[in-house]
Amino acid sequence: MTTVGEDGSSQTWCPSGEAHAPESVVLGVRSGQDGRVVYLADPVPAADVLGEVPQGVEPRRVLRFASHCVSDCVNRRGGDCTLVERVLSRPAAQEDGPVPRCHLRARCQWWKQTGVAACARCPAVSTRHHAGDVLADLVADPATTQEQLDEWIAVAG
Ligand code: SF4
Repeated sequence: MTTVGEDGSSQTWCPSGEAHAPESVVLGVRSGQDGRVVYLADPVPAADVLGEVPQGVEPRRVLRFASHCVSDCVNRRGGDCTLVERVLSRPAAQEDGPVPRCHLRARCQWWKQTGVAACARCPAVSTRHHAGDVLADLVADPATTQEQLDEWIAVAG
């Protein structure tokens, strides 16, 4: 299936993207202690805000960025993103919430691939996560198989 974005392009975008790609935009701002994303009403070029991030702070700790979904990404399998598959493998949790208003939807790879299921989990996805969060490490690791995830979740109960 080909999704055509607002700009008429079939290029899809990654909602857990790079801060420094030329096309990168700010998707949202991490807020509160749990770091959930509050989405911006309109995309802001990443280049316009990166200079405001204090030195020594990894930009993706405080902001979420969107950038092109690229064929050489470690998470790509054919036309699909395996990261969103792993994100959706996590057990449903309180962190799942209503579908956010989001400026990326028309061109979002995760939306194209899984629809509203990804949006419910999206605000809690961390591009950077806390040390010791084994499940988050497994979800983020492109080498993690579905079987490994299922096994870990079954053991953790
Ligand atoms: S809320 Fe949905 S459409 Fe928006 S970036 Fe997240 S997954 Fe994509």
